[in-house]
Amino acid sequence: MASCEMCGENDAEFLVQIEGAQMNVCGKCKAYGTVMKRAGPTFTRPAAPISSRPSPMPPQKERLLIIKEDFAEKIRSAREKMNVTQKDFAQQLNEKESVVHGLETGKHEPNISLARKLEKMLRISLVEETEVEATHMQATTDEVTIGDFVKIKKR
Ligand SMILES: [Zn+2]
Repeated sequence: MASCEMCGENDAEFLVQIEGAQMNVCGKCKAYGTVMKRAGPTFTRPAAPISSRPSPMPPQKERLLIIKEDFAEKIRSAREKMNVTQKDFAQQLNEKESVVHGLETGKHEPNISLARKLEKMLRISLVEETEVEATHMQATTDEVTIGDFVKIKKR
């Protein structure tokens, strides 16, 4: 361990701020300034949140919005109930007729914003919220990223 930058006699155990400068000093000399942190064996290691140990956190849940599988049937029957042709419905939607045709035959899955529009117009429910556990793969990737970041910082 480095020796105290004030007296040079004892091991530097504390990082203190003395008149605007940061110095590593011993327990005796720390009284000359404001202690920033205690320098232990972990002194040069990154601060607490960055850790290479496996995270003890519970599996993370991710909320996902998905389109219901039977969207095509729902859209078609709701439109027919309203007595609107595909063409008219397309106009109301501000989409091409082929889009409506695609939706009703299941060839074209609506994105969430289109699905929300359809839900409002047809008074049906197309979007489903589901919770999935974040995959192990993602967690591992995150750790690697943090590790690499630490290595870069140390250089
Ligand atoms: Zn000292």
